[in-house]
Amino acid sequence: MRLLLLAPPGAGKGTQGDRLAARFGVEHIAAGDILRDQARADTPAGREIAAYQQRGDLVPDQIVLEVMMPRVEKAVEHGGYILDGFPRTLSQATAAAEIARQRGLTLDHVVYLHAPDEVLTRRMLHRAEQDGRGDDTAEVIAYRLRVFDQATRPLIDYYRGRGILVEVEADQTPDAVTGDILAAVSDV
Ligand code: ADP
Repeated sequence: MRLLLLAPPGAGKGTQGDRLAARFGVEHIAAGDILRDQARADTPAGREIAAYQQRGDLVPDQIVLEVMMPRVEKAVEHGGYILDGFPRTLSQATAAAEIARQRGLTLDHVVYLHAPDEVLTRRMLHRAEQDGRGDDTAEVIAYRLRVFDQATRPLIDYYRGRGILVEVEADQTPDAVTGDILAAVSDV
């Protein structure tokens, strides 16, 4: 199984990614978590990534591709992956697709999880009370939703055009969302 979760911040990519990875016995590769790990390193590259994340800006494509592609290729050797948060720009998508195509390992499904901005904002503010992520402030949340609209939303049409996009309502219980995803990606 090679599946991408494409979703605005707060839609539940992390939760669903964990569940789907367990269900399909593949790795859950979460771009935001991996970049947050890198950002903890006290190096120029780490500090640069941390600064982008704090502001809610996307980390530059070149850095993201270098960090993410080796992980994706490794996961493929172990049966596939649930990708969460990568690719997130058209240029990441085309670069990743080209590498995947050369190896005959293109995506099976792209799941677009959607919910109204008010719902997403409420969830992230709630999450902020629990795990205190530095980018879960009201101001940065609003900015991240705009970044999604500008940089990531075009991927919906890109994957729809490739015939692999399914859409799932994210404003439901986690179990209901998982059920809808499984129904949408089952080939029978
Ligand atoms: P969310 O989607 O809820 O904002 P993530 O953990 O997926 O949370 O991402 C947090 C931050 O990590 C983003 O705001 C961005 O700075 C960075 N990031 C994650 N994935 C990417 C990516 N594919 N390209 C560039 N930046 C990314």
